[in-house]
Amino acid sequence: MNFQEYNQQQNWLFPPSIEELIPADHPVKVVNGVIEQLNLDLLISEYNKEGKPSYHPKMMLKVMVYAYMDNTYSSRKIEKAMRENINYMWLSARQVADHNTIARFRSKRLKTIFKDIFKQVVLLLADEGLVTLKEVFTDGTKIESLAGRYTFVWGNAIKTRKQKMASQLEEMWQYAQSIAEEEDKDPTPPDFKKIDKQKVEQTARKINKILKDNPRASTQKKAKLRYIEQNFAKNLEKYQQQEEILAGRNSYSKTDPDATFMRMKEDHMLNGQLKPGYNVQISSQSQFVIHYTLHQQTNDIHTLKPHLESFEYLYELFPEQLTADAGYGSEENYEYLEQNEITAYVKYNTFDKDEQTYKSKKKKKTSADFQRDNLHYNEQGDFYVCPMGQRMEKVFERRQTTKSGYSQISSVYRAQNCRGCPLRGVCHKSKSERTVQRNHTLERYKDMIRKRLTSAEGEKKRKKRTADVEPVFGHIKSNRNFKRFTHKGIKKAELEFGLHALAHNLRKKVA
Ligand code: SF4
Repeated sequence: MNFQEYNQQQNWLFPPSIEELIPADHPVKVVNGVIEQLNLDLLISEYNKEGKPSYHPKMMLKVMVYAYMDNTYSSRKIEKAMRENINYMWLSARQVADHNTIARFRSKRLKTIFKDIFKQVVLLLADEGLVTLKEVFTDGTKIESLAGRYTFVWGNAIKTRKQKMASQLEEMWQYAQSIAEEEDKDPTPPDFKKIDKQKVEQTARKINKILKDNPRASTQKKAKLRYIEQNFAKNLEKYQQQEEILAGRNSYSKTDPDATFMRMKEDHMLNGQLKPGYNVQISSQSQFVIHYTLHQQTNDIHTLKPHLESFEYLYELFPEQLTADAGYGSEENYEYLEQNEITAYVKYNTFDKDEQTYKSKKKKKTSADFQRDNLHYNEQGDFYVCPMGQRMEKVFERRQTTKSGYSQISSVYRAQNCRGCPLRGVCHKSKSERTVQRNHTLERYKDMIRKRLTSAEGEKKRKKRTADVEPVFGHIKSNRNFKRFTHKGIKKAELEFGLHALAHNLRKKVA
């Protein structure tokens, strides 16, 4: 038999350095090279000057970022890798931090300053010509929180319970008044539309005064009053605390109050059930993540403004061009983009439908021909002309406020006389004259966006959007299997996504 020599006791004459054992183009070398170029003053300022010397933040950062590139997220696994894996050993100069130190570094030291590190890496990529901050593609995805899936608190359920309590209290009040002696009767009942702890206690006291020792009061009603006294004020206090946590949302999870119940794309239970999670927004460029933010709102429409505000805060500039899907098209967003001189390639919700209608020029008259957008609008005279040639004059303006507090104004136009009109059956279903509504500001934006999106540049952007931002989510969620946060609370979840986004950028740089 002929074998190569195998001797575990063989010593090296000149022991090699670990660095020599790692290929020059290995991803760990990219992580090392990139982090060596960063200014870590902010990270260093997170440490105390006093006490036992800590592991060097540069070393800890290199290890943490490489771990995310290597799909190693648990602090125990990172500790193990520092002990056993040559790449980690090289980065850490063979120091081994225990899992508590690693967890503390991630959740305490990085929490507030990580975005600065992320920004510096993006700017390095920009210096290398791999990305530009001028043009971004924005999109969002929902990622499940670590919270329990059945730990919901619903805003609507709280409202319903409060209404039920108010009506029970009112019922008791009226009963008490019906059996009260003349001197105990109160002609001014409390306002039961809005109840609070104090009002409940006061009202229950008054009812009790009437029912107590009153021979006409039924035992059943007295028991009900006891239930009200024991539970209502206590429950109202609990609901008030829950409403403070909700802060305008319709739900939150008891085990991660920052998480909102949302519909997830990845529904492993296949039952369409809402799950606690966060709405992750990113702006990408050439499939690199340029910026990321986490939101508690389920609808993308309300996330664009805070996402861009945060972009501007981080980079001290706005992107010059932004492309996004119809989920972001609203008057408020178009106005914000225009005010900040961002050229918007953002569809409005009926853009695709409108395009199809224009293309398929139907010959036969259908009810679609009677839709408002197919009626003639005279801009100079500010009136519509209905299909029978009647002038539809402006009758009033309607002001509406969106969920985010943005105020919209629409003009309402009314036909003069629809009685006896042969087209009435296909024109409208209203009992009186037909009215149409027009939001002039929104129409102006839609017109501008339609022209922009149907231009050669617009077509290019629309195609590029699907190949730019969507693959980033595909890569992070499917290829890297990041479908659920492993930390609770929006700040920690944002840091966690940031580490994934940075790891994604460095992987892309290596590729
Ligand atoms: S129903 Fe009224 S609005 Fe419609 S076409 Fe006839 S007159 Fe005009």
